[in-house]
Amino acid sequence: MDVDCLNDNHNVVALAKCPVCSSQHTSTRFSLSAEQAAQHFILSEGNSKRNLELATHIRNLWGGRDCAVRECEDCGFGFADPYVSGDATFYNLAYERSSYPGEKWEFERTIKELSSIEFHAERVLEAGAGFGYFIDKIVDTYVRRTGITALDYSNEAIRTLRSKGYIARQEDLRNADLVEGFDAIFLFQVVEHMDGLDELFDRISYLLREGGLLFIAVPNPKRIKFNEQNGSLLDVPPNHIGLWSPVAFQMLGARHRLRLDLHETEPFSLSGFIKEDIAYSYLRRSQRKGTMENWSRRLRSASYGKLIGAVFAALSAPRRVNIWRKAAASSDELGSSLWVKFTKMKSKGCQT
Ligand SMILES: [Zn+2]
Repeated sequence: MDVDCLNDNHNVVALAKCPVCSSQHTSTRFSLSAEQAAQHFILSEGNSKRNLELATHIRNLWGGRDCAVRECEDCGFGFADPYVSGDATFYNLAYERSSYPGEKWEFERTIKELSSIEFHAERVLEAGAGFGYFIDKIVDTYVRRTGITALDYSNEAIRTLRSKGYIARQEDLRNADLVEGFDAIFLFQVVEHMDGLDELFDRISYLLREGGLLFIAVPNPKRIKFNEQNGSLLDVPPNHIGLWSPVAFQMLGARHRLRLDLHETEPFSLSGFIKEDIAYSYLRRSQRKGTMENWSRRLRSASYGKLIGAVFAALSAPRRVNIWRKAAASSDELGSSLWVKFTKMKSKGCQT
């Protein structure tokens, strides 16, 4: 299994349709087998049983052995083909625990926007709310606690959200039992995991009042592609299945009375990039059998295992310096997140 040799198409269908604009003009970023995808999430050499179970599950999700990761030449949307999102079984197998960062640039950027328009809401909704770190920042200032509804899949997140006094539901936004008329909906680092895009945007549009706002943040496609082209981690399905461009957001929104008003990329942090690059390039190399990194990650459960991993990651640092220089030279476009703001329009005739 060699994840560095992912450029050859296996048995993938050549004519895939873009899930956003239906174009068939696509190129292939890479393709991979279910086994290669499983190795990205759970190292076979570290936990062969779980790796095998995960590979089998991914194959079932895909309905076959292979998946191609494509890019639409018309709207710039990157998408897994087959375009199928991970389910609860996938996430339970692929990740040992879920983590929710307390601070994200998109939180601050959204609050800056809410402040600049003197936003005040009766009701807002966040999907994929985690422990509620974003809504903690807007409660009482922009909306009352009782006006906040939060969705998440995790039991632990739901318990935490309820303990904070929010209305919390363990449901999918597309079919959650919700009353329409929200003043704003927030989805941070959620949409890139989801299929059923027209159903999703149709539902969001239905749930928002006219003039209501939609804020979304996703990984910045330029950062993801830079990483992939420079020996860092691949953006592997079925975790992330969509790689969003502003044009793709604009096109999908326009079909559902959602006008794209703003899009912005997170400012680049060189120190943040270097830290991520050391970790991700180590993880990428560790996916290959026979590498020192692969060997070192098998020892992770030993008491000194983490230390060995850190030493191997640090040893690679000198080899990465040119990549960091290259990233610094394109720093204006390589921030981590892409943030967008939409407004729900009155009628189809009002779209721009
Ligand atoms: Zn497209």
